[in-house]
Amino acid sequence: MFLDIRKLFSQPESAQSPAFSFDFSGEDFPGYRMEAPCEGKLEISWEGHGHRLRLKLEAQAAVSAECARCLKPVQTSFPLNRTILLREQDWMDNEEDLPLTAEGKLDVSELVYTEIVVTAPSMFLCDENCQGLCPVCGKERALGCTCEENVTDGRFSILNQLL
Ligand SMILES: [Zn+2]
Ligand SMILES: [Zn+2]
Repeated sequence: MFLDIRKLFSQPESAQSPAFSFDFSGEDFPGYRMEAPCEGKLEISWEGHGHRLRLKLEAQAAVSAECARCLKPVQTSFPLNRTILLREQDWMDNEEDLPLTAEGKLDVSELVYTEIVVTAPSMFLCDENCQGLCPVCGKERALGCTCEENVTDGRFSILNQLL
C-alpha cells in the first residue's frame, strides 16, 4: 500500500486516512512471528495552513514468541504509535528516513514493518515472574526438581556421586 505524498501536497483536499491490515506472516522478525495481520490506520491531517502534513500511525501488533526463560509459547501484543510531520518545502530530503519511492510515494507496509521492529520488546516472558528452567535437569523450576541449587558444572555432580 502506497500513499502518494506528492499528490497530497498538490491536492490537500484529496487526503483520506487509510485503514490497513498487513499480513506479515511470511516475514522474518528477530525472535518472534506475526501470525495475525497487523491492523491499524494512518491518520492524515494538515498543520500550519496546509504547509505541514501530519501522518499519525496507530496500530496493534500481535506477535507469537517463546518465553526467554522457559521457552513456553507466548502470545502478546503491543501498540504502534508514530507521528510524522512532513514540511512542504523539504519532505523530499527525507530526513526522517521514510520508505519513499523516487515518485514521492510512501510505502505504508514498509513503514509499519519498521515500526514493529523498533517497538517490539527485546525479549518476551510468559510471566514476569517466570523462574525459567533448571540448568541441570532442564525442567521448569516452578514445577520443582530435586537438583541442588548451586550445581552449575556437570563435573561436580559426577564427583558428588563418587564420594
Ligand atoms: Zn516462562
Ligand atoms: Zn533440576
